[in-house]
Amino acid sequence: MASDLWNLLNDLPTFPADRYASIADRIARLLGTRNDVVLIQAEAVVALEAVAANVARPGLQTANIVTSPYGGWFGGWLRHGGASVTDIVAEPARPIETSAVAAALEANPDIRVLSLVHAESASGILNPLEDILSLTRQRGILTVVDAVASIGGHPLDVDAFGIDIAVIGPQKSLAGPAGVSAIAVSRRAWEFVARDGARRNSILSLLDQRGWIEGGRGALPGTPSAMEFFALETALDRVEAEGLENVIARHAKAAAASRAGLLALGSEPGVQAKSGSHLVTTVKLPEGADMDVLLRAADGFGAALTAGVGPGAERLVRLNHTGRRARFDVVLANVIAYGMALRAQGLPADIAAASETIAGFYGG
Ligand SMILES: *Cc1c(COP(=O)(O)O)cnc(C)c1O
Repeated sequence: MASDLWNLLNDLPTFPADRYASIADRIARLLGTRNDVVLIQAEAVVALEAVAANVARPGLQTANIVTSPYGGWFGGWLRHGGASVTDIVAEPARPIETSAVAAALEANPDIRVLSLVHAESASGILNPLEDILSLTRQRGILTVVDAVASIGGHPLDVDAFGIDIAVIGPQKSLAGPAGVSAIAVSRRAWEFVARDGARRNSILSLLDQRGWIEGGRGALPGTPSAMEFFALETALDRVEAEGLENVIARHAKAAAASRAGLLALGSEPGVQAKSGSHLVTTVKLPEGADMDVLLRAADGFGAALTAGVGPGAERLVRLNHTGRRARFDVVLANVIAYGMALRAQGLPADIAAASETIAGFYGG
């Protein structure tokens, strides 16, 4: 009985080849770029490792900004490829200072590549991307930006900003699937990747991916996972229907309302507004509060509270308002849950004031 064996998740129609190219074009539009966009059939960490593997060469001088475990991994992948890496490390759970980047580039005039994460979901910070890009532009340095946690949450105009390689994933603000990602590659970056020693015939090879573009984008590079690609397509449909600027504005509002709500509660946000991610808002756990007890006490409010990840973020609570969560009820639940969990530990929290403050952002 064939009908008994039919399963929606396994028996999807093949994803059409012509729509594969159109997905790349739609992502290019979201990124504000005319650069080539290649799709990677894996979560964004694989795309990031592929970028490092294709850029690195023995003797290449690179600078790598570290504001989270992701930046730490990127430096490791560059080193694995033989590159010499100057890590520019931020204070724990803080954005990098532009002056620290300027000093590192001054001290190492042979640096040819700089990599950084734009916004961090691990610690809730936003790096000063445009200021850093003006430093690299002056020096002709190739830039690699991990924009996985900023696309859809913060303005990201790849061509206007002058980003050579941007890596994104749909699973954060774009509220799409996690099993596919994309890389926008400038002409200059392609030349860089294609120089002597280029990686070929490898799942991590960007030049292999470029073969799909050079072949007129007809023949697919491998079998696209129908589930992931249909899901990505519907995520793009939703983002385009709402409008990218509105998606970004919705995240900015969720961040502003969360921050104001926390302040009204009597709590201290992890960073200043200008250095804060629009996807997660962090709050400093007050002395005397225990993280595990707090998170347990917050259960049951339909909230999205987690501990920060990485050095310096251990005492930060993350209020998640990413993707579909960037809306009133989640923002309210997060702040109320946090306040109630403080109270459960005998600490003060003005929940009425916080609720009114948040409501003020969404009324009218
Ligand atoms: C989420 C995220 C990624 C991708 O991680 P996944 O494990 O693929 O979800 C990469 N970089 C940053 C900065 C992220 O926040």
